[in-house]
Amino acid sequence: MITKAYMPGTTQSNQLYEAASQLIPGGVNSPARAWARVGGNPRFIHRGHGSKIWDVDGNEFIDYVCSWGALILGHCHPEVVEAAESAVRRGSSFGAPTEIENTAAQIIVNAVPSVDMVRCVNSGTEATMSAIRLARAATGRDAVLKFDGGYHGHDDALLVKAGSGVASFGIADSAGINSRLASDTLVAPYNDAESLRQLFDAHGAKIACVIVEPIAGNMGVVPGANDWLMEMRRLTSKHGALLIFDEVISGFRASAAGAQGTYGIEPDITCLGKIIGGGYPVGAYGASAELMSVVAPLGEMYQAGTLSGNPVAMAAGVATMLEMLEPGRYDELASKTNTLAAGLSEAVKASGAICSVTSVTGMLTLFFTPTPPTNMTEATQTDHGRFSTFFHAMLDAGIYIPPSPFEAWFVSTSHSAADIEQTVSAAEGALRRVVG
Ligand code: PLP
Repeated sequence: MITKAYMPGTTQSNQLYEAASQLIPGGVNSPARAWARVGGNPRFIHRGHGSKIWDVDGNEFIDYVCSWGALILGHCHPEVVEAAESAVRRGSSFGAPTEIENTAAQIIVNAVPSVDMVRCVNSGTEATMSAIRLARAATGRDAVLKFDGGYHGHDDALLVKAGSGVASFGIADSAGINSRLASDTLVAPYNDAESLRQLFDAHGAKIACVIVEPIAGNMGVVPGANDWLMEMRRLTSKHGALLIFDEVISGFRASAAGAQGTYGIEPDITCLGKIIGGGYPVGAYGASAELMSVVAPLGEMYQAGTLSGNPVAMAAGVATMLEMLEPGRYDELASKTNTLAAGLSEAVKASGAICSVTSVTGMLTLFFTPTPPTNMTEATQTDHGRFSTFFHAMLDAGIYIPPSPFEAWFVSTSHSAADIEQTVSAAEGALRRVVG
């Protein structure tokens, strides 16, 4: 009898990975898909349905990557499939306006109170890059303040890490970055109001904007402290800088209004992505009508895109957002996340492993640290060797989690009580393997 634990092998995945490695750098079209941190070859995925994915060798997994958070309804949700199919039959792209772009914009404007107007682009990177250009255009200033551990896509100005001690002008985190651009980026520790005050005291008149993930997802899940975000709002307003909330992950996940809805803090500019495209390439940035009037063709900040507002992506995104706006969806997602987080905490206790669990609606991280990290320095204390053992043990048990200790696990509305039970039981076994 074939059971869930039965693993047909990895021959096909390995062959495809070998071929891919000759054709695509590292065999992957985005580095987060590589298994550099955990060892081994990435699985090639053949199909997904609901909470499950199957690799090309036929192995079945409960999926907690969910296309890095884009699939809040899980794979192949019938409404999303229907919307995308019917859009593609009418034509994949026109380079001219379509009605579905209005529908998507209206849903976003209704859901996110700080946004009066929104421009759709093709990725989260384009959204943050354009938001920063808008902030620079509106303020006439150059400097950007970001936080250590905050990932905002691969724009030059944002691929910068923090120096040690009190934050200083940064050093690029990647080769090939324009060093003049990188030197306009200030980096501060996450959740540290004092260093923020010091940076504004020293450089306030030069700062065009602060960009922050209000709920960090890219050092693992680390929620921003309410007081710190309030202080950020106060300081940006006081110094004439703009506050950008990068809600590419948290938008339509933490709540329909994103993290800003949860915290009750309104940024000047909001970046969205992932969920609003229902699994198709998308990004968006939005703000007040006054600020968005700086964007071409209304104003002088140029930003464009051949496939921006693509009707297939818009149709899938609209179907996803409408489904999430049905009464009770966010309560259901919060309840599933809480059950999984509580179960994992119990598994940690039962196994004797040294771990902590952080979670917000729809996302969580099991850190290999004794206490929940509040910033990147604490997150990097995680035990890589133990995480790697855990990752492979989970995979063996049919649970697909992100192949990095610094990523969020994404919970979707399609994860069932049985999926969560199976995950918790697998985690207890995997943690015992880690401890043993
Ligand atoms: N901002 C955040 C918070 C992200 O997590 C990401 C990607 O994961 C991005 C921006 C960039 O989005 P994309 O990968 O669509 O360019």
